[in-house]
Amino acid sequence: MKKLLFFSFLLFSITIVSAQRTYILCGKLIDTKTGKIASKKTVVVEGNKIFKVYNGYVQPKNKLDKVIDLKGKVVMAGLIDMHVHIESEYDPKAYINRFTMNEADIAFKSTKFAKTTLEAGFTTVRDLGGTGVNIALRNAISKGAVVGPRIFTAGKAIGTTGGHADPTNGRKKTLMGNPGPKEGVVNSVGDARKAVRQRYKNGADVIKITATGGVLSVAKNGQNPQFTLEEIKEICKTATDYGMSIAAHAHGDEGMRRAIVGGVTTIEHGTLMSAKTMELMKEYGTYYVPTITAGKEVADNAKIKGFYPEIIVPKALEIGPKIQNTFEKAYKSGVKIAFGTDAGVFPHGRNGKEFRYMVEVGMPAMEAIQSATITNAGILKMKDQLGQIQKGFLADIIAVNEDPTKNISTMEHVVFVMKNGKVYKNK
Ligand SMILES: [Zn+2]
Repeated sequence: MKKLLFFSFLLFSITIVSAQRTYILCGKLIDTKTGKIASKKTVVVEGNKIFKVYNGYVQPKNKLDKVIDLKGKVVMAGLIDMHVHIESEYDPKAYINRFTMNEADIAFKSTKFAKTTLEAGFTTVRDLGGTGVNIALRNAISKGAVVGPRIFTAGKAIGTTGGHADPTNGRKKTLMGNPGPKEGVVNSVGDARKAVRQRYKNGADVIKITATGGVLSVAKNGQNPQFTLEEIKEICKTATDYGMSIAAHAHGDEGMRRAIVGGVTTIEHGTLMSAKTMELMKEYGTYYVPTITAGKEVADNAKIKGFYPEIIVPKALEIGPKIQNTFEKAYKSGVKIAFGTDAGVFPHGRNGKEFRYMVEVGMPAMEAIQSATITNAGILKMKDQLGQIQKGFLADIIAVNEDPTKNISTMEHVVFVMKNGKVYKNK
């Protein structure tokens, strides 16, 4: 009898706990699927999911339920950034830090960047390369030990000897060593396969390759092709076997072409993309992740004496300002656009600026928001869980003060953030 009583009590308490819901009263609610903005809606959250969306303002009947009043706000699904480096943030000491910071130092610092990113309304990010601390950070966030966005991470990027992701570039010879596939440096088809499998073993969610030279690496060329087509094909084939998509950093046109034909999922930056390559992007269904913000901020920093090593300055001044123009052409030619910023190259939390830069050259605000929600959710294979405020989706919900279709810069001032049903910001 005692036992029975205990069990019925347990069942009763579970019922109460699971029934506790949060009613969010939304003045305006953006439907990212249809691109329409509705007025006066109530979103009901239960646990980490959206339980129901009602027309009008609905008050809970259960006394234990909570009400969040966002009647004066514009509410939408949590934003997704497809290109960040959550572990770090560039400053003039970035190149020295590689020799002075231990993994634990990087980890402690990264928790601040993760929090800042989440508070900017980005409830999910794709991390495209760091030291591998990003994998531990993802795990700590998903366990609730650290506050931050949901992370899909590449772990360490994959490049070639002397290429953009070679971690020993610019060092004196005695410190260069001979990094191999484990460190992300490959020089053959076999190495390429091994590097992908190593990342899978390390716990990466996605593969990042540096298909061309890059601006911020200590190397002369910022745009040359750095892989053979065969190497890229092997990377893509192996990654697909392990259920991972492939992101390719690319500034120059030839490296970009090889990456697209080789089978990558997204092209990052795409700075010198030719009209012919834009056609190829459409033919292969490859997404373009522009990172306009990074281009602009890097060009600005290059004008500050001593901010970057000398070898980087001319590359930053030349490549940085071109991205917005390329984005305009690519968008207008019908290339599929995914939202991504390269935050970490500039201070985390400024991710929302990208919306303004996209809209400035002709993309409608609603399309920019859709790129950061439903498009990105699709690339992450999360289209039934992220990017929309619909019954059964994960409760990632944000709000801004103004209608972004009237003032896009409101996206830079997110006032409410909920991730997985938990409120992280409300002011
Ligand atoms: Zn990047």
